[in-house]
Amino acid sequence: MRMLENHKQTAKKALGQHFLKDKKAIWTISEAVPMGASAIEIGPGPGAITEPLLERVQSLTVIEKDDRFASHWQQRSIERAGLSVMHGDVLKELEGGIHTYKPEWIVGNLPYNISGPLTAQLAGHALSGGMILMYQREVGERIMAGPGSKVYGGLSVLVRHYYHVKRLLTLPPGAFSPPPKVHSVVLLLTPHGNSPKCEYAALQKMVRKGFIHRRKTIANNMKGLLSAEQLALIGIDPKLRPEQLGYDAWVEITLATHAKTT
Ligand code: SAM
Repeated sequence: MRMLENHKQTAKKALGQHFLKDKKAIWTISEAVPMGASAIEIGPGPGAITEPLLERVQSLTVIEKDDRFASHWQQRSIERAGLSVMHGDVLKELEGGIHTYKPEWIVGNLPYNISGPLTAQLAGHALSGGMILMYQREVGERIMAGPGSKVYGGLSVLVRHYYHVKRLLTLPPGAFSPPPKVHSVVLLLTPHGNSPKCEYAALQKMVRKGFIHRRKTIANNMKGLLSAEQLALIGIDPKLRPEQLGYDAWVEITLATHAKTT
């Protein structure tokens, strides 16, 4: 906590630095990771979640962009076996980190400015444990939304490839220092265990294209890839809008497009 005090005045806005200080939230997040597990933490900062995690896990890899915090954790790793540090941008380091350290869990109070692209990357990894991720409330609600909801979108589809999504916590701005302007939510992603019928990268490509124009029909968005007739053939009403299609429909679209191109 001393480190948190030192950095109170110098939180970097550009790095989305809002440090968690709510004790119950810190407890809930760290307790969700089983004793003896292996984990990656994204953006440990001064360590509100990192220290309690280190009490529980066998191995922890932290990925941090801020030089001050990266060097703190590098120092700490000298005395704590099983703690590894990746100093850099998580968007670039994540794949290598998962490949090298094979974590069961990923935890992070995510920097809000990159949470969308980061989640699209994270959701492509089937972890055996799961993920505990903090978002600004609007983004978290988009991820949790189901088809038909106004906020349902690409991320809502992508996270369902490997995971069930559940809200663990909702936190007011005062839970952080400095306080952000918005509320936050913590989501728990746990593996649903079903084998996916299509490749994640192919699904991601379709979802990206399919949601370009939310107000247009799926037939319109898929122009050049699948015709209205082909959509009807796979049981999808071509007049529906992308936000009305559930995960399974997106998988069917992906498979049909793939079958067409190979
Ligand atoms: N985990 C700490 C907590 O809960 O108090 C800090 C969370 S703060 C919201 C986000 C953290 O992510 C900061 O430590 C920040 O420096 C780090 N960060 C921001 N952008 C990053 C990036 N692109 N790659 C890695 N870390 C990043």
